[in-house]
Amino acid sequence: MHTQVPSAPILMDLGKRYWLPVYRPREVVLDHGKGARVWDTQGRDYVDFGAGIAVNALGHQDPDLLAALSAQAHKLWHSSNVFYTEPPLRLAEELVNASGFAERVFLCNSGAEANEAAIKLVRKWAASKGRAPERRVIITFRGSFHGRTLATVTATAQPKYQEGYEPLPGGFRYLDFNDAVALEAAFAAGDVAAVMLEPVQGEGGVLPAAPEFLRRVRELCDEHDALLVLDEIQCGMGRTGTLFAHVQDGIVPDIVTLAKALGCGFPIGAMLAGPKVAEVMQYGSHGTTFGGNPMASAVARVALAKLASPTVLRNVERQANELRAGLARINHQLKLFSEVRGRGLMIGAVLADAFKGKAGAVLDHAAAHGLLLLQAGPDVLRFVPPLTITDDELAEGLARLHTALNDFVAT
Ligand code: PLP
Repeated sequence: MHTQVPSAPILMDLGKRYWLPVYRPREVVLDHGKGARVWDTQGRDYVDFGAGIAVNALGHQDPDLLAALSAQAHKLWHSSNVFYTEPPLRLAEELVNASGFAERVFLCNSGAEANEAAIKLVRKWAASKGRAPERRVIITFRGSFHGRTLATVTATAQPKYQEGYEPLPGGFRYLDFNDAVALEAAFAAGDVAAVMLEPVQGEGGVLPAAPEFLRRVRELCDEHDALLVLDEIQCGMGRTGTLFAHVQDGIVPDIVTLAKALGCGFPIGAMLAGPKVAEVMQYGSHGTTFGGNPMASAVARVALAKLASPTVLRNVERQANELRAGLARINHQLKLFSEVRGRGLMIGAVLADAFKGKAGAVLDHAAAHGLLLLQAGPDVLRFVPPLTITDDELAEGLARLHTALNDFVAT
């Protein structure tokens, strides 16, 4: 049952009046969802091709997530880390077992926090090896996105996120993504403690690591005694067709960060630490009040089990093929995209030159035609639907996209 709510304009005015104006949401007030559909306060329905931002991987109102959350909500909401509770203990064990490489887990509340923990762990590891602070450099890549805290926004090698926040923390070096030659040269300085990257860059335009690039990164890290940190916050948790994206590259990382789909909409993040670093941080060296919150952990345990299941992973492959085929059909008629790229259900459609910079306008048309869509920068449409999206939902979303794009081209 949904109670009467004030009209959307009145609600949106509250945001305009009271929120720090750091966001510019579409002019829609969402109210409830089911599967890969969402309804707004006026009762209009939308097909959800965005899943928040790659978060609601099991869609909306997944019955098992609901049951886990409500069971835990009736038991204990919070204890902080001064006492044990069962859900985060179980979750840590399950994450370690699922990862195949990690020995320990740090639970937190968001992607930025997971990456912040990873950055601190790298520094602590280098310090434990007696390396001076100037020899604790972390290499990251242009187009990356690692979060908005001061350290993670510094790791994020995109000036637009950094401008005005200087002085930024030191010890980061930026390179072009997929440039193995530049990486070799960067290691020559002898001061690199880690390389940190997204196996598929998300915010930077849905750009996968080139074949062999990750293997080369791993080799260079091994040669130079540096750590490999993989940010799987957006591309992990089954989104690319395997629970962890890096498995497809045949490499073993030292640290992996997760968030977004780990809680399927309930805030939680995790940093997974492999054998080289699992014992580096000791009592008192890091922490957070809400990390491993029992409700978040109870939800994440179910999310992890379901997202790792063959049923979900097979659906990723099936719907990714359907989505790509649908985009190809649309493009055959409209010639809007110069390229469609990505992995699994993390797909980017790059706008052709004539439409560069227009991704935001496309999203407006999509919303007007009942489709929630995302962009990754001004030139790329980003498709990251729930991994459980059904044939009918996907077909309906594609039909709405086609209408919206026809409309966009006509205006
Ligand atoms: N890393 C990646 C790859 C992301 O896509 C994001 C968010 O978009 C983050 C880190 C930051 O996560 P959060 O917004 O939960 O802090």
